[in-house]
Amino acid sequence: MNSVKKGHLMELPNRVLIGHDIIGEFGSFLNDLGVDKPVLFVSGKNVQNVVKSSITESLEISQLKSDWKIIDNATTSITDEVSELCKSNNYGIIVGIGGGKSVDVAKLSSYQAKIPFVSFPTSASHDGIASPFASLKGSDRPYSFVASPPLGIFADIKIISQAPDRLLSSGCGDLIAKITAVKDWELARDNSGERFGNYAASLSYMSSRILFDESLNFTTNKNDSVRNIVEALISTGVAAGIAGSSRPCSGSEHLISHALDIISPNNGLHGEKCGISSIAMSKLHGLDWQEIRDALQRVNCPTNIHDLGISDDEMIEAINLAPTIRPDRYTILNTTDLDRDNIHKLLSDTNCI
Ligand SMILES: [Zn+2]
Repeated sequence: MNSVKKGHLMELPNRVLIGHDIIGEFGSFLNDLGVDKPVLFVSGKNVQNVVKSSITESLEISQLKSDWKIIDNATTSITDEVSELCKSNNYGIIVGIGGGKSVDVAKLSSYQAKIPFVSFPTSASHDGIASPFASLKGSDRPYSFVASPPLGIFADIKIISQAPDRLLSSGCGDLIAKITAVKDWELARDNSGERFGNYAASLSYMSSRILFDESLNFTTNKNDSVRNIVEALISTGVAAGIAGSSRPCSGSEHLISHALDIISPNNGLHGEKCGISSIAMSKLHGLDWQEIRDALQRVNCPTNIHDLGISDDEMIEAINLAPTIRPDRYTILNTTDLDRDNIHKLLSDTNCI
């Protein structure tokens, strides 16, 4: 979908609607995006049960027809199936509604089928809500695919507030991780001459600082907290769109999380793994790792990998494997010769194990 040969392309969402109890606005939101053809929703069964009647009512008022594709996983074969569905029907837009899986499948299917997509998150567990990147199982690479950012983002805080608390805490972990992601990018600029985008880096870094502020009164005002966290997650996705890569959002801590996906699959959520890894990587960077750990604890995000069911050996192996996950991504792990004992000491010094 991208034919740019020269220059730096920034792809950003066109319209973001965020508010409390706004589901009735969804039809007019699509109309305002210029949608006049049938809509394909991609979601899990439980999400469909919760939101379908309200959405159908709103779409009827806006004279839009819709179909639903129920998925239970985000794999390359499901993405291929959804994009074929789009090519053989006359859908005007795909809406990914749910947590990470549905949004990721909608994002990549829309990219393959060359039709736009809308991100409709029902939880705030990671920064894929707004970014042009998606993760899939069943592919031969353990990190994100490049696709397009959503044409629109529709964030109903009432729905997102009802998601399990653990998902919100995981989103906080993914935000904290931006501190080490940006530090790694600075290192790549200084040590390997990588292009560095000051604006994108600052925007991503600011989202992590907002999380620090938010963590100070996290449990007292949940709706406000959810809104601020959702806005910060959207901003990090926008930072990736400005950078044209996941660089401002994803450094050594994300590489470790991807390595854990391979070594210890199904243990821990993405943001939880990134948050814990960020504590250890911040110590390597010479940052105040205790500040990061304390903020994570205030938002109820795990700070020790045993809480995720991951063993010491698995975490040590993940840190060893991390630099090989994506060799083109220069991080603090490229500058430090860590053997097994050093890694064990680092993890135990930072109370990550
Ligand atoms: Zn992430």
